[in-house]
Amino acid sequence: MKKVMLITGASRGIGAATALLAAERGFAVALNYRRERDAAQALVARITASGGEARAFAADVADEDEVLRLFGDVHDAFGRLDVLVNNAGILERQMRLEEMDVARLQRVFAVNVTGTFLCCREAVKRMGRRHGGRGGSIVNVSSMASRLGSPNEYIDYAAAKGAVDSLTIGLAKEVAADGIRVNAVRPGLIKTDIHASGGEPGRVERLQSAIPLGRGGEVEEVARAILFLASDESSYSTGGFIDVSGGR
Ligand code: NAP
Repeated sequence: MKKVMLITGASRGIGAATALLAAERGFAVALNYRRERDAAQALVARITASGGEARAFAADVADEDEVLRLFGDVHDAFGRLDVLVNNAGILERQMRLEEMDVARLQRVFAVNVTGTFLCCREAVKRMGRRHGGRGGSIVNVSSMASRLGSPNEYIDYAAAKGAVDSLTIGLAKEVAADGIRVNAVRPGLIKTDIHASGGEPGRVERLQSAIPLGRGGEVEEVARAILFLASDESSYSTGGFIDVSGGR
């Protein structure tokens, strides 16, 4: 029986690349998306056409009821859960702290922090040996922003990813004896649509001369690090981080 990987925010970008690679490596893939049903279904069709197994599930990870439904639906469809990839994440228009209102702060923390916590909680309840599960692996998609702080752009997003880093360290210790490993990747400047939501679609090109490796990253390069942490290849790693940032 195939191992099952749930990837949040998998309709495009890093999540979609992770879904394709996971299917190629033999996982059955549960793709979560929030709005982009057609994109998620197209990805499912692509995976299925090449002999893989995938299903798409709509849910906003910031909404507790929707997260509970998501995990229930994944269980009904696949009967097991082995890996959770907490990839769903948002950032908002670039600005300084003085301009940020409370509604924005709540949105950014709700998706990036609360959403990640809720999904981790539900995964632990299903995978943890103390709950009758067989163990598993959680991979959080943090960001180099947690180390760099993103001044003048989005320190709210950077701080939210800092919380994801702390969650990774603490939860790894909390659930190690339950057979669950918890690790994170910290992507740097990766070519996806997320920069457009900050108001600067060309951000990677603008900043690439400051990257030691001299270029922005591809989504597949992040997906490979996620798959390493998800699989038994990283069996002795927990509470760890892989920076996928070209040295930035
Ligand atoms: P992206 O292209 O904007 O994709 C984000 C995905 O998350 C979309 O599928 C989006 O779907 C989904 N999503 C957003 N809010 C959601 C919610 N509340 N519930 C469920 N799904 C939700 O971004 P990306 O660059 O691939 O980013 C993926 C992850 O990598 C994020 O956590 C991001 O912070 C992190 N990261 C990216 C970079 C980079 O340079 N690209 C660097 C560091 C870290 P909808 O549009 O339907 O909401």
